[in-house]
Amino acid sequence: MKILVINTGSSSLKYQLIDILNEEVLAKGLCDRIGIDNSFIKHTKAGSDAVVIEKDMINHKVAIKQVLDVLTDKKIGVISEMSEIAAVGHRVVHGGEKFHDSVIIDDDVMKTLKECIELAPLHNPPNIVGIEACQHIMPGTPMVAVFDTAFHQTMPRHAYLYALPYDIYEKYGVRKYGFHGTSHKYVAHRAAAMLGKSVDAVNIVTCHLGNGASVCAIRKGKSVETSMGFTPLAGLAMGTRSGTIDPAVIPILMEKEKMSIKEINDFLNKKSGVLGISGVSSDFRDIEAAADSGNERAALAIDIFCYRVKKYIGEYAAVMDGVDAVVFTAGIGENNPLVRKKVLSGMDYMGIEIDWDKNSIIGKELDISAPNSKVRTLVIPTNEELAIARETLKLLK
Ligand code: ADP
Repeated sequence: MKILVINTGSSSLKYQLIDILNEEVLAKGLCDRIGIDNSFIKHTKAGSDAVVIEKDMINHKVAIKQVLDVLTDKKIGVISEMSEIAAVGHRVVHGGEKFHDSVIIDDDVMKTLKECIELAPLHNPPNIVGIEACQHIMPGTPMVAVFDTAFHQTMPRHAYLYALPYDIYEKYGVRKYGFHGTSHKYVAHRAAAMLGKSVDAVNIVTCHLGNGASVCAIRKGKSVETSMGFTPLAGLAMGTRSGTIDPAVIPILMEKEKMSIKEINDFLNKKSGVLGISGVSSDFRDIEAAADSGNERAALAIDIFCYRVKKYIGEYAAVMDGVDAVVFTAGIGENNPLVRKKVLSGMDYMGIEIDWDKNSIIGKELDISAPNSKVRTLVIPTNEELAIARETLKLLK
């Protein structure tokens, strides 16, 4: 049974076709610069090199059509007709308080999704456009929405409410929602399996460290706290996002730098984080190379990033009255031993002891703890597409 997983951004669309019975990726790719000039699709059939096709894609509907064309292409495709796709799983960023779990998409769900736009004006509209495009081109194929926020709906009120007048929450839904839920949940379940325990029997801190980055406290399988907030801007310093700052800085910046609301939003989302500190790049590979060749601001950016991850681990161990495992995942968490070393050094006092040779692991599952470490530290590659395909299958049944 084949499931198509779709992740739509404002000008991009990522896809994977997964044979869900053996969890094999048959093909994957990216449509980029949708609605802009020079749009192209990069398509990779399992076991073959990527193919790049330049193709005008004026909107997401054209992009979906293009994806189906390459998937059914005689040479680079992997299926002979569209009807082989049993279902489509869509990543949706924000489900607000309405969605505690993945759902089969119907008219009511679409209506509710549109009500959530207010909460995520940057992220949800492209997701909705992606769903509508698929519905148009593949009518009758079941579709499922999998939300970044759903896993965090188990957070208690004292964790998700901001200390603002209560009616702000009631009127506008302003509260912490949290994101990356699909990834945090996936790696927590993998971690429990690696420890040979049920997820209900362990407390885990998961560190999803990619361009966007967040930490999550998972008590007995349920998210009880996470570092992102009302939007994915809060918490850790990220590639280009500031993470948490004193909110009083915002009016001062707007006044001194003469920034509009849109400009301050762009400033905090796109020009800050490790890019803003280092002045080099948002990518840790570039920043590390610059730091190695003596760039002090690049070294500082790495320190700031790691310091915050370390603070959250301590905080979340406290929140859960103790922790059994710490997980590192996503681009940086999986592939960057230096970051892990800076975060994990000196945590022996709380039972986190590392085998520093094992910490050199890149991109593979491994328990990197010292043999007698009370808390286990695990590197686990995330797989959000597979998690979305699994959710889709679960709902189809
Ligand atoms: P996104 O949030 O865009 O999915 P990723 O999870 O791909 O982000 O993470 C991007 C970050 O991970 C970048 O800072 C990059 O330097 C780092 N990264 C990704 N792959 C590797 C790798 N193979 N080796 C070292 N660093 C990597």
